[in-house]
Amino acid sequence: MPAMPRTGTPKEEILAALDAYRARDVRWREGGVFAHVYDAGREVEEVAREAYVRYLTSNGLDPTAFPSLRRLEVEVVAMAAAHLGGDGRTAGSFTSGGTESILLAVKAARDGALRARPELRGARLEIVAPVTAHAAFHKAAHYLGLDLVTTEVDPRTFTADPGAMRAAITPRTVLLVGSAPSWPHGAIDPIPELGRIALEAGVRLHVDACVGGFLLPYFRRLGATVPEFDLRVPGVTSISMDLHKYAFVPKGASVILHRDRALRRPQLFGCARWPGYIVVNPTVQSSKSGGPVAAAWAVMRFLGDEGYLELARRTLEGARRLRRGIEGIPGLRILGEPAFAVLAAASERASVFHVVDEMKARGWELQAQLAFGASPANIHFIVTPGNAHRVDAMTADLATVVAAAPARGAAVENVARGAATADLLATRGAGPIDDAELGRLLALVGASGGRIPERLAEVQELLDALPPELRGELVTAFFDELYMPGDGDAP
Ligand SMILES: *Cc1c(COP(=O)(O)O)cnc(C)c1O
Repeated sequence: MPAMPRTGTPKEEILAALDAYRARDVRWREGGVFAHVYDAGREVEEVAREAYVRYLTSNGLDPTAFPSLRRLEVEVVAMAAAHLGGDGRTAGSFTSGGTESILLAVKAARDGALRARPELRGARLEIVAPVTAHAAFHKAAHYLGLDLVTTEVDPRTFTADPGAMRAAITPRTVLLVGSAPSWPHGAIDPIPELGRIALEAGVRLHVDACVGGFLLPYFRRLGATVPEFDLRVPGVTSISMDLHKYAFVPKGASVILHRDRALRRPQLFGCARWPGYIVVNPTVQSSKSGGPVAAAWAVMRFLGDEGYLELARRTLEGARRLRRGIEGIPGLRILGEPAFAVLAAASERASVFHVVDEMKARGWELQAQLAFGASPANIHFIVTPGNAHRVDAMTADLATVVAAAPARGAAVENVARGAATADLLATRGAGPIDDAELGRLLALVGASGGRIPERLAEVQELLDALPPELRGELVTAFFDELYMPGDGDAP
């Protein structure tokens, strides 16, 4: 294991080493990446960089020491609130990302309900969400000790089924969830209907607008059909919107907005029961850099409404071309009715996992999604201003690759036949995966010792054949190995 070097290293050498480390990272600047990166160009990046660096060593822990960080946060939250139908009563927080915003929505709902309904104390509280809600809600339920009750979605549109959600509400329910849009299919849930159900049941409704919230209002202004989803909808009590996605600011930036301050109040944590300073944390982090909020503030002001409208126009146009392009590829089919710049395409014939690998070999980065419920295995795309101009070139390659791809399941049959995976799957009981099983499964797909295989199709086919709980177990165990020093780290 490399220890701390005894002597220091010159700055130039350090930076050169960092560049060498980065050599294998995904190359997104050319526009070939349809996942992970939301790029609005060099100029925006430069503004973000300079703002971030000014706040590199600031600390948002204490607003009396760094009053400017409070001001930046309040101004960013106000811009976000105005954008999403908020008014003078809207109260929010700047957070590190969608997951944190969601965690806080759940905490506020939990602690708000416990305060208002003391009879719930000691009970296992529940969240009702469509299966398409982001995994962050599972994480929040897990961290905060609630149960997440998921409901089926419309098998054709992949939007939430309001009747199923209403039926899932119990006296222990504290929160309903809808997405605008959902990550897996880019589908917008019927928020007004969910709002009516929430009001009727007297529970909160959180709208997860993490991915689409920022650009959807612009899409509407550009003539796209965008159903109501924001704070204007009666019954919506909170909404999350990532700035580090379609507001094109550096990672570590999201907002959570509540309809009013009383709803936000239980989101805050305060503690004076120790000999140190009084801790008051509106969000999960305590000491925190002002870099992300400064960069977000700077980019939002730099682009302004007109700048974002133009970026939205490029994104919408790219998304429309992507849709037409995919519709023109025999063997691919778009899932549901994507209402934003995020969409998923499945194939009746080809292994989408092979398609993703083959596209990567050609310089295109796409994300595969495993089959889940009514949603078949598929390829997930996000269109941004940084890749919109490459959509046609990408879909041209996609057509070639899909036409030549092996059939679905071909790889998993090889794996299963060769090494008794099917056997293992058929005979194992429920419960956590043990080391021996894990070793066999990882070896089977060439992922032993925390090594990431070059081609992922076989791994994905295997995961696709596993029940979801086991998928999570296996990949989590893999990460546990991955985050240990390995052979790949040698210079
Ligand atoms: C990205 C995303 C999240 C999670 O956000 P992170 O910033 O990755 O923590 C939650 N919900 C939706 C709909 C998202 O797209």
